[in-house]
Amino acid sequence: MPVIRACSHCGQKNRITGKHLADTGRCGACKSALSPVGEPLAADQALFDEIVKDSPVPVLVDFWADWCGPCRSAAPEVSRTAADMAGKAVVLKVDTEAHPELAARFQVRGIPNFVVLNKGRTVMQQAGLVGHQQMEQWLRTAAAANVV
Ligand code: ZN
Repeated sequence: MPVIRACSHCGQKNRITGKHLADTGRCGACKSALSPVGEPLAADQALFDEIVKDSPVPVLVDFWADWCGPCRSAAPEVSRTAADMAGKAVVLKVDTEAHPELAARFQVRGIPNFVVLNKGRTVMQQAGLVGHQQMEQWLRTAAAANVV
């Protein structure tokens, strides 16, 4: 299930697979450059699995719920991280009410709960509100492990 992104130039909807979310692409209609995804993506189980399996860059997952006050406080930090790390990381949001099976897989009890995955493997997990600088630090640390 690819991510659909509208071209900012012509409005054409382009399908982007999990492997290419951090790449600069090209619009299928007008050939304008499509910038790397710079906002958090709402993930269901299928999208989550595809991105985590195929992404060549680290993935930050924000497990959240609508009723959770600290999650609302975290949301702008998560968005900022996605913008700052565009091209270097992918940021997913998982609504734990809509997708309890994903929350269960990561044994999420307290939210917000942040997981960083790299090459399909969990490299860190932490509950509680943190700022975007901390999130970006986690992703840089994970990316550094890729440079061998
Ligand atoms: Zn276009």
